[in-house]
Amino acid sequence: MSGRLEGRVVLVTGGARGIGAATCELAAREGASVVITDVLDAEGKALAEAIRASGGRAAYVPLDVSREEAWSAAMERTEREFGALHALVNNAAIARDGDVEEETLEGWNRVLAVNLTGSWLGMKAALPLLRRAGGGSIVNVASIYGTVGGNGAAAAYHATKGAMRVMTKNAALRYARERIRVNSIHPGFIDTPMIAPFLKDEAGNRSRMAQWIEAMTPLKRVGTPAEVAEVIVFVASDAASYMTGSEVYVDGGWTAA
Ligand code: NAD
Repeated sequence: MSGRLEGRVVLVTGGARGIGAATCELAAREGASVVITDVLDAEGKALAEAIRASGGRAAYVPLDVSREEAWSAAMERTEREFGALHALVNNAAIARDGDVEEETLEGWNRVLAVNLTGSWLGMKAALPLLRRAGGGSIVNVASIYGTVGGNGAAAAYHATKGAMRVMTKNAALRYARERIRVNSIHPGFIDTPMIAPFLKDEAGNRSRMAQWIEAMTPLKRVGTPAEVAEVIVFVASDAASYMTGSEVYVDGGWTAA
């Protein structure tokens, strides 16, 4: 263990599973006290217990990122339990299919509320704590679909990820003078519960979509949550001390092609 986050407190949204859970596990192994937040209470509590059982420090705090009052409560609990906050990972998101015409106003508003408004509320709630800590790091988990348009599906999801990219640069410029770094991470196709259903066909074999992704990705495979967590932890840590306003791709080369 290199202890890249020794003595640090890191809050991860959507931390109960997928990329968020891998980030919580790695951050704890790197010495952080981890505040695991999610709407999946059972999974979040189980992860916090597993981290504590292996000698790490973690607490589960329920947090629907689209609710401002829930953010206030989570910040209060973080300071009460761990004394400070040094890094926020805005990772929670939902995905919905539907092109521009298929999407409904209700669906559009919900995706924006969780993915985009949730990340903004998180930054707003965390900034006073990061300031009190003398600086810190905000990691906004966007997507390759914050930069490229995919095949025209999931219009609302793409819109949120594109907006997160520039929201990140805007905040980076505003808070650089306070030693608060803000960066975005752009994963490609990662094997998590968000896309797992599309990677297998009814017989349990690699689906046509999985085969297409593998063929189109320069590294010829889907990524793992742990591979994204490595980059998130790096950007959250002081190892990335001269990095702000950056967009980091963890996509097997997808956007380079
Ligand atoms: P996932 O669905 O496995 O995890 C998302 C987590 O967010 C879940 O634990 C879920 O309960 C939580 N969540 C959903 N709504 C919430 C809310 N209102 N408040 C709090 N938590 C909520 O997905 P994942 O693949 O691990 O996604 C993590 C991040 O990575 C997301 O921002 C996603 O857009 C991004 N991403 C994923 C991929 C991929 O291929 N898996 C690709 C690009 C970007």
